[in-house]
Amino acid sequence: PPPLLDVRNLEKVYHLNDGLLQRVMREPPRVLRAVDYVSFSVQPGETLGLIGESGCGKSTLARTVLRLHEPTSGSIVFDGKDITRIPLAEMTALRRRMQIIFQDPYASLNPRKSVEQIVGLPLALHGVAKRGELRDRVVAMLENVGLKSGHLGRYPHQFSGGQRQRIGIARALILNPSFVVCDEPVSALDVSVQAQIIALLGTLKRELGLTYLFISHDIGVIGHVSDRVAVMYLGDIVEIGPTRALLNAPSHPYTKALLSAVPQIDAGSRRERVKLTGDLPSPLAPPSGCKFHTRCPFAMDVCRREAPVLRKNGRDALAACHLLEIEHAA
Ligand code: SF4
Ligand code: MG
Repeated sequence: PPPLLDVRNLEKVYHLNDGLLQRVMREPPRVLRAVDYVSFSVQPGETLGLIGESGCGKSTLARTVLRLHEPTSGSIVFDGKDITRIPLAEMTALRRRMQIIFQDPYASLNPRKSVEQIVGLPLALHGVAKRGELRDRVVAMLENVGLKSGHLGRYPHQFSGGQRQRIGIARALILNPSFVVCDEPVSALDVSVQAQIIALLGTLKRELGLTYLFISHDIGVIGHVSDRVAVMYLGDIVEIGPTRALLNAPSHPYTKALLSAVPQIDAGSRRERVKLTGDLPSPLAPPSGCKFHTRCPFAMDVCRREAPVLRKNGRDALAACHLLEIEHAA
């Protein structure tokens, strides 16, 4: 089947300090290349996991795909329609089908609004529920996420973290979207609550026929929820492939390093241990060539000069590393 979402060469650049003061001070403008020509697709019904250290551009990528941030260049095709440059009014209508669940349910819920108002607001904004029907739709959605109609009149502070995330999920799903970005949806929750929310997201996906782009820095979470995984480093996807293959036998040194930092999940895994040294370089001054070369134990001369391209690396998998090109050539 054709992909639900097809992203090609997506670029998102921010120009920082190019304001008047900086021009007067003659500081050079700084460029933050948050998403650096990224391509991937998501099949209907699939969960694509997106993993990487914080600051690698995962959230910016997801928000740019939803056009909550404007793309600098590239293309985003959603359900066969190029949405990269459609007018915002048209995008607003489409947003019913593309929603996002945020990391911090508390920060993303208006503390002065009741649950009924919060979850009902998208329906009201999009004018898709008749007057008398709004409350019923909210109650039905609350039931879907494990809350009760008795919760309608309560405010966010009256709920636990897990319940608040349930409210955030209800708000995201009330418009019947087909594609949902889950941006670190359990990272702010206690470990005991994380499993409940992950299970709920899985149930809702099956029952409502959803497709997820699931962002997390936690490999355990990503391994559990994803059909395929994309690994991001400083604005690039460096490896992408089916979850089991990628976690059991990663190809890219960065993926190996990420996995080496956590205990072996699978006894049959053939993972080579790679120690991740040093901090993530500033995305304002990314290293030349392969951006990972400053931390890669296998770095060669060519790595400092030339950026490796994402190329086929086994069935349904892609990776960007000069080592793999050498292996394939040999
Ligand atoms: Fe390491 Fe070179 Fe591969 Fe980059 S291209 S991951 S520096 S071996
Ligand atoms: Mg983030």
